[in-house]
Amino acid sequence: MILFKKGDELKKYLIKKTAEGISIGFVPTMGALHEGHLSLVRAAKERNRLVVCSIFVNPSQFNDPQDYLQYPKTIDQDIFLLEKSACDILFLPEVQEIYPQNYTPLHYELGSLETLLEGKYRPGHFQGVCQVVDRLLAIVMPTILFLGQKDYQQCMVIERLIRLKQYAIQLYIVPTMRETSGLAMSSRNLRLTEQDRAKAAAIYTGLKHIKSQLQPGNIESLCNQVTADLLEIGFDKIDYISIANAKTLEPIDVWDGETALVVLAAAFLSGVRLIDNIPLT
Ligand code: AMP
Repeated sequence: MILFKKGDELKKYLIKKTAEGISIGFVPTMGALHEGHLSLVRAAKERNRLVVCSIFVNPSQFNDPQDYLQYPKTIDQDIFLLEKSACDILFLPEVQEIYPQNYTPLHYELGSLETLLEGKYRPGHFQGVCQVVDRLLAIVMPTILFLGQKDYQQCMVIERLIRLKQYAIQLYIVPTMRETSGLAMSSRNLRLTEQDRAKAAAIYTGLKHIKSQLQPGNIESLCNQVTADLLEIGFDKIDYISIANAKTLEPIDVWDGETALVVLAAAFLSGVRLIDNIPLT
């Protein structure tokens, strides 16, 4: 695996590879890698000659400064795991490299994605995501970008970014990897105790319960029950549990039995914010 820290050097290297007809799969991450990230690397490897992974904890997407400061960092282990997964290139930039002195933040027109769900509870978050992904895509210019379905709304935001910027990049979305308990793998799980991790699996259990109960008609109460259950077992706060139109994320209270749906959740356990989702149809 080759390590690059400078964007212009990586860009030069990859332009040459592209000119040779070599396809590039790109997996952007914030590190503290787990099997979920590695499943993206494997998916990228299966479909491309060259796989680039980036590790960059992007300050501009954290609306909570404490969350940024406490974000787990396990760089030596990350490098070991990427080597083992046959990743070809690791891009490991400093903050200055992504946001140099002369960087002027762009504003991205994200429509209702910015006011619904994560957009509502994490103001500015998706602008930050677009800023960093835009910078990374301009450097890597991959053939295919690999994202995880775990961050469902983020996938929609980045799909929109690609359209807005007219990047000739395909998007490949990889299903969510889970612990055997059902808990969606996440770097933030490192901040949970063993006991909390067991408790955190209740999010997935709740989402599956909603799926099993789904019937056309009024579906609003399904989410209220799961919210109450999570609070009952000791979650600090539930930002949302929402059944939404799978294509637009608009909330759906009364289901016609046909519209494709997804149920999404964001909840705090011992101060750690966890998100998950499952498609319902
Ligand atoms: P992060 O490091 O959290 O920014 O995640 C980097 C990429 O890995 C994003 O595209 C995530 O959606 C994806 N990812 C994170 N957790 C999982 C998971 N459990 N399963 C699949 N992909 C994931």
